[in-house]
Amino acid sequence: MSNRLLLLSDRRAQIAARIFACVEVVHTGYIDPKTGLPSACHLWCGADSGTGRGGGYPRMKLNDRTVAVHIVSFTNAHGYVPANKQIDHMCRQRRCVNDEHLEMVSHRENQKRRDIARGLVPKRKRKKRVRA
Ligand SMILES: [Zn+2]
Repeated sequence: MSNRLLLLSDRRAQIAARIFACVEVVHTGYIDPKTGLPSACHLWCGADSGTGRGGGYPRMKLNDRTVAVHIVSFTNAHGYVPANKQIDHMCRQRRCVNDEHLEMVSHRENQKRRDIARGLVPKRKRKKRVRA
């Protein structure tokens, strides 16, 4: 391995360790679709994005910038996230930073999954009302 790659993997390990130092490992009922087995969430215990719209997402300081921890966790494990993609919590836990519970999806797919999780049927699948 070249020195540069070695440094990069050190950096990744450091970031992963920093994140893991600030989580609570909790079984929330999430079943890993690949294994069919329960998989524990890594719930962030640090700062978050507040209680407003888009609130409740984990935040941390990295290189003097405030960043979303679940995105850092995903990027650290799986690579770069393009600007037109979002990171979905398959476990539906906003505070979870377990990279195995995160998936890169389009904004549209993310909204669809959120609506399904909230029990809302996507608009185009709603039955048309029949007028009496
Ligand atoms: Zn999770």
